[in-house]
Amino acid sequence: MKTSTKFHSLCDEAGVSVTPQRQIIYETLMSMPGHPSAEAVYAQVKEQLPSISLATVYKNLHLFIESGIIREMSQHHGTLRLETKAEPHDHLVCRTCRKVWDIEHAGAKLEERLNVPDGFKAERYAVEVLGVCQTCQEHERL
Ligand SMILES: [Zn+2]
Ligand SMILES: [Zn+2]
Repeated sequence: MKTSTKFHSLCDEAGVSVTPQRQIIYETLMSMPGHPSAEAVYAQVKEQLPSISLATVYKNLHLFIESGIIREMSQHHGTLRLETKAEPHDHLVCRTCRKVWDIEHAGAKLEERLNVPDGFKAERYAVEVLGVCQTCQEHERL
């Protein structure tokens, strides 16, 4: 599905109105690799919409997150980082440089081990492996 078509159907489902500005923000985000920050999205969007403000980009990204159009990579990262990959996966996070790597979903096995209490409706779960990346370890040794 084309990114623009996808955006339209996601907005339809979420009851969010499609504006050219929102379309550009979404398409820009989805074209970026990894887990961009709102500031990185803003820098790219600004090339197409020179008059847009960082606050507007933030506001729309939060609207997208709240309405389920996009996902936040992690709520524990400290700053807003956005997920651009649709397939379920887990993350490795370096606690020193805050860099993030995608790792294959520990999925099925973990889910089997999850002991969700009665009455709790699990919607999604995320695994984050915190540690120190090789580069940061080398720096620490210096
Ligand atoms: Zn690091
Ligand atoms: Zn990811």
